[in-house]
Amino acid sequence: MADPGSTGRFGRFGGRYVPESLVPACEQLESGFRAAWADPAFRAGLARTLALHAGRPTPVTPALRLSAELGLTLLLKREDLTHTGSHKINNVLGQAMLAKRMGKTRLLAETGAGQHGVASATAAALLGLECVVYMGERDMRRQELNVFRMELLGATVVAVRNGSRTLKDACTEALRGWVTQVDEAHYCVGSVMGPHPYPWMVREFQRVVGEEARQQCAALLPQGRPDVVVACVGGGSNAAGTFAGFVDTDARLVGVEAAGGAAVSRGAPGVLHGYRSQVLQDEHGQILEAHSISAGLDYPGIGPEHAHLADIGRAEYPSVTDAEVVEAVLRLARTEGIVPALESAHALAWVLRAAGTPQLPTGCSVLVTLSGRGDKDGAQLVALRRDGARSGALRRDAAGTPR
Ligand SMILES: *Cc1c(COP(=O)(O)O)cnc(C)c1O
Repeated sequence: MADPGSTGRFGRFGGRYVPESLVPACEQLESGFRAAWADPAFRAGLARTLALHAGRPTPVTPALRLSAELGLTLLLKREDLTHTGSHKINNVLGQAMLAKRMGKTRLLAETGAGQHGVASATAAALLGLECVVYMGERDMRRQELNVFRMELLGATVVAVRNGSRTLKDACTEALRGWVTQVDEAHYCVGSVMGPHPYPWMVREFQRVVGEEARQQCAALLPQGRPDVVVACVGGGSNAAGTFAGFVDTDARLVGVEAAGGAAVSRGAPGVLHGYRSQVLQDEHGQILEAHSISAGLDYPGIGPEHAHLADIGRAEYPSVTDAEVVEAVLRLARTEGIVPALESAHALAWVLRAAGTPQLPTGCSVLVTLSGRGDKDGAQLVALRRDGARSGALRRDAAGTPR
């Protein structure tokens, strides 16, 4: 997981597929990032902001009761404890500080569920930048509270009325918006996707998760590193940051996708939003909608570096169902007193399924990145319990059956 050079290629994936008018902006960003990342003063300033404003370093917590139940050693990297409640803050603070260093005055962002929009609005407010967030009209209706949060933080939310009026349309619109205001605006991409240099740059801004965890695991585990490292994958930024800390060890790397958004196992090579990767598409190359219980994983593509890590066999990308995810939320809540985000619960759901099988034999050690906290999912879990359609587990609990 090194520097992909000026082409931004990861094997047969990645690259830069943008209109001519955006090529200079991508090149300017690449050289701006290269200079900043090589500048110890920028790195120190970012580290300081992450410590003072975002609450880094986050702990690695041994999940003692759940470990005992599963017969293995389970460690949790606690991105749920950051300011704003997920790993997204690491990336947006990095990009906002870079934008400011490059003389930009405005951040543009796209958002689906609103989480990247809220994080971008937070970083913009902290650094005194304007913020414009593109959001599908349908998503705006579904995520009213996050729209309000962004506005509270001083951002302007632009309703996108094209296509399915969801995340992929918002991405397209944000790229279009950027073309018209490249001099003053920075486009703040929310995951390890988009044209070069974004997949590489976002992975570097998330690398802090894996590097902290590597040191913390060294202090907690007798053999110094976990046997298996697991993270959920939407675009793949929390997984990329986590994997970057362990890719040079012999730890197995597992990225867990949503069954309805499994771009690695069910996708095919294609170009989406400026980069080449595995993409969910029909036989005519039309992009398919992804479906998942967690809005943060509702994306039809995956970061190009993950597609490459799967190609070369360095990482595996299984998928889990919505029902397994709800079970995982409940299990962690009841055994450890931690309510994970639905996204993060995908990683845990795979561990619950694999524990005690040759995939995760008894006695092994597993690091799971808990990418975010579950407070945001409360209303959705209440609705699931009400209709009981997807989750027997929640219904059983409502009836008070002891677990
Ligand atoms: C956005 C989000 C994700 C998915 O994004 P990645 O780029 O795949 O990390 C996962 N977990 C949480 C809590 C999120 O908010």
